[in-house]
Amino acid sequence: MISFTSIYTIDYYDYMSIKEEAWKWIDEHKDEFIELSDKVWELAELGLVEFESAKLHVKMLRKHGFEVDHGVAGMPSAFVATWGEGKPVIGFMGEYDALPGISNKPVPYKDPLVEDGPGHGCGHNIHGTSGFMAAIATRYVLEEEGLEGTVKCFGSPAEENYDGKAYMVRAGLFDDADACLSHHASSMNVAGLSSSNAVNSVKYEFHGKTAHAAGSPEQGRSSLDAVELMNIGVNFLREHVIQDARIHYVIEKGGGQPNVVPDYARSWYYIRAPERSQVDEIYKRINKIAEGASLMTETDYKIDLIAAIYNKIPSKTLSELVTENMRDVGHPGWTDEELEFAGKIAETIDQKAKMESLKQRKVPDYQKYKDVNLVMDILDAWNDGEISHGSTDVSDVSWQCPTMEFNTSCNVLGAPGHDWRFTAVSGMSIGHKSLIFAAKTMAASALDLFTKPEILEEAWKEHEERLGGREYSSPIPDDIDPPLEIAKEAWERLKGKR
Ligand SMILES: [Zn+2]
Repeated sequence: MISFTSIYTIDYYDYMSIKEEAWKWIDEHKDEFIELSDKVWELAELGLVEFESAKLHVKMLRKHGFEVDHGVAGMPSAFVATWGEGKPVIGFMGEYDALPGISNKPVPYKDPLVEDGPGHGCGHNIHGTSGFMAAIATRYVLEEEGLEGTVKCFGSPAEENYDGKAYMVRAGLFDDADACLSHHASSMNVAGLSSSNAVNSVKYEFHGKTAHAAGSPEQGRSSLDAVELMNIGVNFLREHVIQDARIHYVIEKGGGQPNVVPDYARSWYYIRAPERSQVDEIYKRINKIAEGASLMTETDYKIDLIAAIYNKIPSKTLSELVTENMRDVGHPGWTDEELEFAGKIAETIDQKAKMESLKQRKVPDYQKYKDVNLVMDILDAWNDGEISHGSTDVSDVSWQCPTMEFNTSCNVLGAPGHDWRFTAVSGMSIGHKSLIFAAKTMAASALDLFTKPEILEEAWKEHEERLGGREYSSPIPDDIDPPLEIAKEAWERLKGKR
């Protein structure tokens, strides 16, 4: 347990004014940051190759007096930007990676900006910008008020595919952080408390022997057979793993044409479960199945673990802090044009599925959202003890210090994530509002953490209670580097589509 001593006392009115100072700064610099978010949206670079997007953020942070260490933890698009000195150290995280195949113009119907191209269908153009904008506003207020502390920005690549933050944690970059804040655009305004699944992302390669599939099949050893047999084994395994586990795969390579026995095939698996130790167990069993498939087919096999992350440790203390600040800032509201835009998108959504999903997520009074497309309500977190089945590399940070990733509404309620609809709203005024609302909330919450040491004390007490003595040990073995080559290859394949 660390301890924080109050070295400054601030009366109530001063305290209100420092938040207002930050909000004023954000309002005055709005256009510049919206432009930055839109540029990142247009670039739509995939994980680990977000070179230009990272540079735009770095340039902005340097312009505002941050010292930037660019290209950290073996990733050219990762950076740590620092302003100030001493305790506390408050971290602001931001991402800027896009997703393949969901490019769209900022219009309320499906119309790709680039046919089959990548798009910001998870809104990461918004929350890289919101986080760093908040950090910059905070740093000006600290300077203005002569307050002590360090503002750190963690530019973290590849949240969507290779879990950049897990590599940054392994490199010790979060070691001195006292708390970390992160924002993610979503369909709700909430500082959620659900945990997430730990995951291993693994590629299984099989090497066999080519032969004429009709003329001399006895000479061939099919790598595709091995991939298929492995999948069958895993599909039988599903009955004998814990209920909450999620195992999914794609076949990335399966041969050229049917008359050649394929000598190379590759599958890509995600293995998820609520606890890191559960993933480790299931992973071991799946590796045995891979070995079995190789024995059955007389092929050689190779296991490539390319990313691995933990489950999330929530923070009620930070959730309450962020929620209060969201309410202080107040939702900016939606214009008739924005509501009309969202209404058109809503016509493309299965409304039954929307209500079912709200029910599944246990959203309080979910029926009241039947006719709501863009949420304005600021909800209290309702989901402590729940597990959202997805995964995020924010989780690995959440084992290092109290961490909060909160949401502001942007995506049309009921619209799926990782989808053209989310790409569309992320590149227009709905996304811009989500960004500014989040930046103000984050700056205000950070200023509370800088000026009220008792909140950090409370957050750390809760953090240690939730960990219950469990220790973090990087799930990525030391000899594994971020998969830069795989990322570059994927990007090259898309080049024609840019
Ligand atoms: Zn995301």
